[in-house]
Amino acid sequence: MANKRLSAEELVNANELLSYIRKRLDELGGADRKLRFAYNRKITKELGYDERGKPMARRKLKKEKWKEQNHRCAECGEEMPLAYSVLDRQNAVDGYTKNNTRLIHPDCDYKNQAAKGYT
Ligand SMILES: [Zn+2]
Repeated sequence: MANKRLSAEELVNANELLSYIRKRLDELGGADRKLRFAYNRKITKELGYDERGKPMARRKLKKEKWKEQNHRCAECGEEMPLAYSVLDRQNAVDGYTKNNTRLIHPDCDYKNQAAKGYT
């Protein structure tokens, strides 16, 4: 399923929110560039977790999927080392859950993304 794209009006809202966040980061950081950077990094990290979950949970899920798929890529069916695998979400909005993901080769992921016009 394709991800929702923001309408022109929604894009304006998103850019306003981004401007607000940047202004607040500037205020909180003040003249301290390292503090501004630390606030920026913290917000970026937490928003990333909101979308992708925490890394430890994804690592655990990867291992479970790898065992469940008998160490094989869900796309091409070839054997796949755990370290050379990526979690592919069916619907990005539904997150990294057992039912919404499959484990595939990075190359197979890239080919899929290219076929869908995402790259
Ligand atoms: Zn594959």
